Amino acid sequence: MSRVVVIGAGVIGLWCALELRDRGADVMVLDRDWPGAGCSSGNAGWIVPSLSGPLPGPGLRSRALRWAILPTSPLHVSLRADGALLRWMWQFWMRCNERDYARGFDAIARLHADSQSLYAAAHDGGLEFELHRAGLLLLFLSRSEYHHARDDLARLTAYGYERPDELDGHAVRRVEPAVGPEVIGGILARSDWHVRPESLVAALVDRLAAGGVTIQGAAEVHALEAAGPRAIACRTSAGRVPFDQCVIAAGVWSAPLLRQVGYELPLQAGKGYSMTLSPAPFRVARPLYLAEAKVACTPFRGALRAAGTMDLSGFDARLDRRRVRAMDRAITRFLPAWRPHPGRREWAGMRPVTPDGLPAIGRVPGFDNLFVATGHAMLGVSLAPATARGLSRLVAGEQAPGLAPFDPARFCRGAHRRRAHGPDRKRTHPAAHRSGQGTGGYG
Ligand SMILES: Cc1cc2nc3c(=O)[nH]c(=O)nc-3n(C[C@H](O)[C@H](O)[C@H](O)COP(=O)(O)OP(=O)(O)OC[C@H]3O[C@@H](n4cnc5c(N)ncnc54)[C@H](O)[C@@H]3O)c2cc1C
Repeated sequence: MSRVVVIGAGVIGLWCALELRDRGADVMVLDRDWPGAGCSSGNAGWIVPSLSGPLPGPGLRSRALRWAILPTSPLHVSLRADGALLRWMWQFWMRCNERDYARGFDAIARLHADSQSLYAAAHDGGLEFELHRAGLLLLFLSRSEYHHARDDLARLTAYGYERPDELDGHAVRRVEPAVGPEVIGGILARSDWHVRPESLVAALVDRLAAGGVTIQGAAEVHALEAAGPRAIACRTSAGRVPFDQCVIAAGVWSAPLLRQVGYELPLQAGKGYSMTLSPAPFRVARPLYLAEAKVACTPFRGALRAAGTMDLSGFDARLDRRRVRAMDRAITRFLPAWRPHPGRREWAGMRPVTPDGLPAIGRVPGFDNLFVATGHAMLGVSLAPATARGLSRLVAGEQAPGLAPFDPARFCRGAHRRRAHGPDRKRTHPAAHRSGQGTGGYG
């Protein structure tokens, strides 16, 4: 039985561990904190084939420029003298075109189809987490945004999803009475689902523990040891851990780990916030996407969560009150009863974002037994099971054709850049990046 170490107990690492264990591997998960401590607990929990478009899209260039300089807009870049950020922004900018967007949409929509059936199978098979099959209602304040989304959603029918319903403002308020008069219309996508992310993490942890998988918290991986094209062990704060194969699923922190072994994954932290009100102050029947505000509003059992914003501000998980206030203001235009209730739970998480908006899933270039699964941006929960299923095939030496568009090698400029740097020559220490104090690529 091969010994596989998974670095990171977020939703991606935990699903990978489950798939690997189900294939008979002896699996150990290492996390520097605890399961869900990164980005995988306070998010909106959406499983959304409807939102399969990658982040860089046609038409985003002009809007992104405006947004980037306004500190209260949904997307904000803290501009700083950081070569990696500037390179990332350039690559992102170059992907804001129809051809790359359509390719990315296709790859993600296919992965979504697998993910949704794996979610259904896991839930029906007894994995106990809060899953709702309630659809998604997109809400609009302007005609232009509405038409843009309608055209985008029309792509979905090619993947077997039913055409979403178009609703005018009155029809929206009939199905969701909490929606305010400024909303001019909505689009109801019935194919989308959502989970309570905390319950998903807890269910995965329980299932893994019951299956004999060790999840070791407080075990920060400081370094990877390699011999030629093979990685052989992790050096962690809890000791040295040898392995046959290793999967790096450390979210946004995967990049500094990979850099140590000579592979530069262009990854930026896209910080977002959520506010959870429990009990819910008013009733919402299904998740609402507040389009112009780019806010996800999700009803859970006994709670309501609003989540949004994308701050490219480096490794910095602090809550920025100005951004939270801007979110509150934006939400009330859609949901007038929304208030910044005292006692609500506020949370910030860093999404791992690649410049082409696609995750990096597969073998690390230059290595036989080192794998990576990260870069899922706004879709980590949505795509976790299919990511894990495909990756576990690769780890087992099988083919995973659906993962071809996500091959990490797409970011390599030369063959085996790893060798150019040498696997054991550590250039940066990942721990230095935890609170943004590093001087490396992520400032
Ligand atoms: C506001 C917001 C809303 C979102 N809403 C949705 C949504 O509705 N649907 C959706 O699909 N996605 C959503 N996302 C995105 C989703 O949360 C992420 O894509 C996903 O959680 C990423 O999971 P991960 O496992 O890759 O990373 P993480 O959850 O960040 O896990 C990485 C883990 O690695 C550990 N780690 C890091 N470095 C080390 C090290 N050196 N050694 C050991 N352990 C280490 C960390 O402690 C952490 O536990 C949202 C994100 C935000 C911020």
